[in-house]
Amino acid sequence: MTSLRRALAALCLAAAAVAAHAAQPPRFELVTLGVEGGVSSDNLSGYLIKARGDEHYLALDAGTLVAGIEKARASGALKNSTGDILHQGISAYFISHGHLDHVAGLVIASPEDHGNKPVYGLASTLDVLSRDYFNWEAWPNLADRGKAPALGWYHLAVEAPGTWFPVQGTSMSAKLWPLSHDAVVSSMVLLRAGGDYYAYFGDTGPDALAHGKRDLADVWQALAPLVRSHALKGIQIEASFPNDVPDAKLFGHLTPAWLLRELQALEDASGGKDALRGLTVVVDHIKPSLDEGRDPRALITTQLAAGNTLGVHFVVPAQGERLVFP
Ligand SMILES: [Zn+2]
Repeated sequence: MTSLRRALAALCLAAAAVAAHAAQPPRFELVTLGVEGGVSSDNLSGYLIKARGDEHYLALDAGTLVAGIEKARASGALKNSTGDILHQGISAYFISHGHLDHVAGLVIASPEDHGNKPVYGLASTLDVLSRDYFNWEAWPNLADRGKAPALGWYHLAVEAPGTWFPVQGTSMSAKLWPLSHDAVVSSMVLLRAGGDYYAYFGDTGPDALAHGKRDLADVWQALAPLVRSHALKGIQIEASFPNDVPDAKLFGHLTPAWLLRELQALEDASGGKDALRGLTVVVDHIKPSLDEGRDPRALITTQLAAGNTLGVHFVVPAQGERLVFP
């Protein structure tokens, strides 16, 4: 064989390997319905996730829902009609905490939603949904408990921290951990599909500002074995403010500096230097600024890159994107 023919044969083999890899659907697929942490009601925290082989999505928070589905359809990230996606595409919801920017889309779309879907969350989160939103004053009671008549369009499914439960309509199971978020208990959901995992964090501050609570330290201990075995395909967590916002003004949120410090703790728990290299970290909940000339997204992206000695793969998605986790 001439060296040219050998080179061609090697190229063909490489192309075949790429094609085989490309043909395999991603282990997880995430669609961003809303990515910001406030100000504009049509771009608040809301994501759809599904696992390889699944037809239905779990919604991860629902600050923006229908407006986000329409944005994702316009960009090609979602294909079906808005009604199909809302009615059939989403088979369940996870709500990380009861703040308005994580539930508004669900509440507003609820009269159009069908099917006694589960809304998973910690007891304290679902108490807020029932007491403060689905109470016949803020909104009709479409939940299955609370002020009568409870119409039961949603099943408020309380899940205890640390216990696996199946996600209805999907092949995924899930487990919750509490997070410290100013005066509120927020939560992280760890999703499992086969041997693959994805961790979605609701709003959280750093442990160092949590008045003695060490919720993130507990989460890092739980994720460390999955990092070591490369079973964790992605982490999604907030960085709400750029680094120049002082600690006293964070109100239970992270900056890039605090996020990098917390990820350092995960690296330490996972075996030390380079343990996180190549791990995808999706960064969300950036709070926009209406100050002329101030661009928190650009600042946060730059600050994350500048401090990234961990070698993680930071992704700061826009609204209406489809992210895949191979
Ligand atoms: Zn919040």
